[in-house]
Amino acid sequence: IESTVTFWDGSHRSLDSPERLIPFGSSSVQHGTAVFEGIRCYSTSTGPALFRLEEHLTRLLESARLIGIRHDYDLERLRSAVLRATVASRLSDCYVRPGLFATAPELSIDLGRVEFTLGVEVWPIAPDAHTDASKPEGTQLTISAWDRPLPSSFPSRAKAVGTYVTSALAKTSAVDAGYDDAIQLDPLSGRVAEATVSNIFLVRDGVVRTPWLSDSILEGITRDSVLALTGELGIPTCEEPVEVADLWSADEVFLTGTASELVPVSSIDDHHYPANSPVFQAISEAYEGAATGKDFDWLNWLTPVPAD
Ligand code: PMP
Repeated sequence: IESTVTFWDGSHRSLDSPERLIPFGSSSVQHGTAVFEGIRCYSTSTGPALFRLEEHLTRLLESARLIGIRHDYDLERLRSAVLRATVASRLSDCYVRPGLFATAPELSIDLGRVEFTLGVEVWPIAPDAHTDASKPEGTQLTISAWDRPLPSSFPSRAKAVGTYVTSALAKTSAVDAGYDDAIQLDPLSGRVAEATVSNIFLVRDGVVRTPWLSDSILEGITRDSVLALTGELGIPTCEEPVEVADLWSADEVFLTGTASELVPVSSIDDHHYPANSPVFQAISEAYEGAATGKDFDWLNWLTPVPAD
C-alpha cells in the first residue's frame, strides 16, 4: 500500500514507500479531482477507536466511483491504511482524513489518464470537541444565496474536493456578513438542503425532522447515527421535504457532522431559538455515549485502533 501519513504540523511519514508529496501540477490541486473522508477517532476505556470506519470507507469508494476516479484500493486495503496511519500518529482523540489524490503532474481532465493513490492525514482534536466548548451558546446561521450544485451538474452523494468551492463560497460570504455558517438550499425546489459542511435537523412539537435525501444532500454518517439514536431514545423522527418556512416554526435547530458532531443553532438570520434545547441535549448525550464506547449498544460502530 502506497500510503503517506501527513501530520497536522506539516511533517510527513511514509508508511511503506518513499515519501510522496502531491505536486502542484496534480489534477487534484489544479482541478479539484479527488475524493476524501473525515473520520473521528475517540478515546474509549479500552483504547482509541474509529467511529463508523466501515461506513466512511464505503462512502469513499462510492465517491470515487461516482466521480470516475480509478484506483487500486478495496475496503480491506483502505481499512488497513487508515488504522496504520492512526497508530503512527500516536493520537487518541483525533480526526483522520483519508483521500484518493492524483500524485503525478497531469493537466488533462480525462481522469482515465490520471493515477490516484491514497493519502491519510491525521489531525489532533480536543477531547471535549463534542461539547463545542468554543461556542456553547450555539451557532449563528444565515440562508445562503449560494445553492447546492444542481444534480445534473454534480453527484451530491460524492464527497469530492472540487464541490467544496460551493461550500467555501457560502461559508465565506456568511462569515463576512457576521454569521458563523450558512444553510444552502436545493437549487430545484428551493427547499432546505444542508449547511456548508453539515446536515441540518429541526425539532417541532417533540418531533425530530430532517430534509430527506434529495439529490442535493451529502448522505451524512452523523445524520444516520442521529436517526438511529432517536429510534433508541423513542423520539419520533421524520425525513421529509423541509421548507425555509419550517425553520421559522421550529423549536430547536441543530447541525450534524463528523468533525463538529452535534451543534445547536442559536439563530438563523434574525430568527432566534431559545438556549434551552432539551431534545438536542438528549440526542447529544446519546451520541457521546455511542462514540466513546460508554453505551454498549453501539459498540459495533467502533473499530479499535491496535496498540503500536
Ligand atoms: N454535508 C456536507 C457538505 C459535508 O461536508 C459534511 C461533512 N462530511 C456533512 C454534510 C456531514 O457528513 P458526516 O456526518 O458524514 O460528516
